[in-house]
Amino acid sequence: MDPKDADYDADSSQAEDSYSKGEECESRLDLCCAAWRTPEQQCENTAIISCKKCRLVAYCSNECMANDLKDHHASRIPPWYPRRTKYEDGEVPDHPLWESTTFWANYPATDVLNLAKNEGSEYNGCLRLLLLGPFALRHVIYSVVAMPETANPSLDVTLRENSICHLVRTFLSLLILSLDTVNSLAAAEIVVDVWYSAKWSDWTYSFIEKHVGQKIRNLYQEIQAWYKVKDESERKLCYTASLGTPDYLTFDVCLDWHTWTDLLDCYLQEPELRSMVGPRAKDVIKWGEPLDRVFRTFSSSRTAALMKWRLDGIMQPHGESASGYTIPNPAFYLLGTGLPEGITNEPLSEWPMKEILGYGPYPAEDDVYGKMNFYLRRMVIFFRARLKKKPITAHVIACGLKDLPGHIPMYYKDSRLYDRIEVGNWFDIYAQLCFLACAPLLRNVGENPYATMLTLCRQSVIQVKDEEAEKQLELEKQYLYGPAFPLLEKLAPPRQAAGEPYSTALLPRHMILFIYRNWSWFSCRSLFNPKIYGFTLPGEKKPQHPRAPVTVTGYLGAQMKQNTVVDGWGNTLWHSEDGKPTMEELMRWASWPAGKPQCWLEWRKVRDVTAGEFLEHLEWVQGTQTLRIFKTLYGDLGAREEEKKREEENGERNVGDEEKNERKGEDEAAVNGDKSAPEGMPLNPLAKKMLMRLNFAMEAARQQDKAALEEEKAAREEEKATREEEQAERNGGDEEKDERNGEDEAAVNGDESVPRRMPMNTLSKETLMRLSMEMKSSREDEHGST
Ligand SMILES: [Zn+2]
Ligand SMILES: [Zn+2]
Repeated sequence: MDPKDADYDADSSQAEDSYSKGEECESRLDLCCAAWRTPEQQCENTAIISCKKCRLVAYCSNECMANDLKDHHASRIPPWYPRRTKYEDGEVPDHPLWESTTFWANYPATDVLNLAKNEGSEYNGCLRLLLLGPFALRHVIYSVVAMPETANPSLDVTLRENSICHLVRTFLSLLILSLDTVNSLAAAEIVVDVWYSAKWSDWTYSFIEKHVGQKIRNLYQEIQAWYKVKDESERKLCYTASLGTPDYLTFDVCLDWHTWTDLLDCYLQEPELRSMVGPRAKDVIKWGEPLDRVFRTFSSSRTAALMKWRLDGIMQPHGESASGYTIPNPAFYLLGTGLPEGITNEPLSEWPMKEILGYGPYPAEDDVYGKMNFYLRRMVIFFRARLKKKPITAHVIACGLKDLPGHIPMYYKDSRLYDRIEVGNWFDIYAQLCFLACAPLLRNVGENPYATMLTLCRQSVIQVKDEEAEKQLELEKQYLYGPAFPLLEKLAPPRQAAGEPYSTALLPRHMILFIYRNWSWFSCRSLFNPKIYGFTLPGEKKPQHPRAPVTVTGYLGAQMKQNTVVDGWGNTLWHSEDGKPTMEELMRWASWPAGKPQCWLEWRKVRDVTAGEFLEHLEWVQGTQTLRIFKTLYGDLGAREEEKKREEENGERNVGDEEKNERKGEDEAAVNGDKSAPEGMPLNPLAKKMLMRLNFAMEAARQQDKAALEEEKAAREEEKATREEEQAERNGGDEEKDERNGEDEAAVNGDESVPRRMPMNTLSKETLMRLSMEMKSSREDEHGST
């Protein structure tokens, strides 16, 4: 995404007006020459040529470069050495990536609207968004900037934060973004400091203090006054504060007493000017990637950038000095609790890798932090330019996912529905809860055919644990030591013989193998695995065998659809079937945080969820205790629904009675998953597509390993024969079995009928029926017992 240069220039000329007023004159949009004329004074010319040695800094002239060369290379920051990686004898890690706690969101900002492919490039209606992933504001900014020039929708955005640090980031930056009279250039620089820099310069702090300090103090008074007349027990009640600038960016923040106090105290506390070096070093030692790994997979410039970040945590061009940054950023410097864990890991993962690396023109080509800083400033400037064209309304809430239905009851009660819901990778952690909290809030396809719920799979595409997948992984491990495919031999020949303990020398080769892993195939095995995604439903204690996965059946009215908003495999260096990444691409990918493959799934809502059903599932997922709390909140929900139903029935009795009954039947059927799906809803096209890929991959695997498979097949046939004999002896169920097979085929071909009682392997007899021998035998058991 490239903001149009014309708009950008227009905005910077405005910025110059502000300069002439003598306000906020320190911000600039070009990179400063990295040479220091004297120990106190940096050359103020614009940098145009990159340092030939490191490409991390740039200079205005050859002269400056020559003068500085000794200095800047001598002043490289000594790295901290966290523990070396140790591998036990014979141990081969499942994947080569360093996995560790990170404070930052571990997937990039995403265009959750994609108007061109959905509502249209000229859309100017209303759109409501609910964003639940960490630091959700970035998606809003990114989406608005990515919007086609011709589109002009009214956006109403709800942002949920689940951590006080991210909440402070969001709150402070919204306050600054909504200042419509300040210079956009300066606002952009401040916002980037709020988001990322561990410490602020005096200039940053006084800008914030001047423009929003008093607002925060007033808000504090307002909140104290409101809760003063309340009981201790009423502190759980939320107070909503309205902030921002009308006709530009307005936002309200709805929090309980404790969260309000934590949030405002962060800013209002006296900043302690103590050193952060110790706590940062501790964090690096605990969570940082060990240096022996870093040296194997990072280029030397990337290593230098990482070391600088670990030390000072200031997001700025590499050549600039951090010495003026002395005031702790309240977002990361919590009262009494120290730094949030994993904060010294790189924040680069919050934005798209390709866009930051490709940001230009930027003279210091390898300076990722400088690029990111400029990339973000430019994005913020463009975002504010859009606000002038069309205001945005935002709502900020803070709660856990499980508290969402209790936190915003009015949304569930009044059906204030959303056109996009970004769930992020909460789907990995508790998929069923995601559906429960979000599916009722998604707008029905009947109202907006493009309404989409977005869920991200990171862990879930990696955690495959079935026989076929294990076999593939074993093969991959053999390739580490012995001959594999030509590209791999060329880029990273084996560095160790089999039998030697795994060492970091194997990392580059392991990483290429990891990239080349057929992720579609692997993710299918996980996403269509009934054991993982076959949810139990209310009343089901322990099902005899897992249910069909929700990726096939849908859940609470939500059904998986073809991706139209987000690329399925967005940010990773993803191989196409014949893709050949270069060594440079590989190194970039290998040195980017959160390199794990991630896959976006999209869902639409094909049927509304009744209040009764919602509460029933809520109880099932959340427990009776929670339900009791919610029942008071949603008490009249059921009653109102009954009434509404009665009214409708009275009104429409004469019109289309039959049709209505029919539709009602279908809805119920869809709930129980035991009849035909509502008309016009073919079974999940994405599943079909993925299945085709799965079949393709299976075919390839089969050819590779024919002998073994043949053997297996023979064994299976033998087994089958014995079983059929047994079956015949039990003289029953044969017909039923045939019927079921027919249904399986129908499902694969996307027939509109959903098979009765959804047998677990509706996907493909050839492939997924073999997913798990266990399941098969349990089904046989069931079969036998009927
Ligand atoms: Zn250099
Ligand atoms: Zn210079």
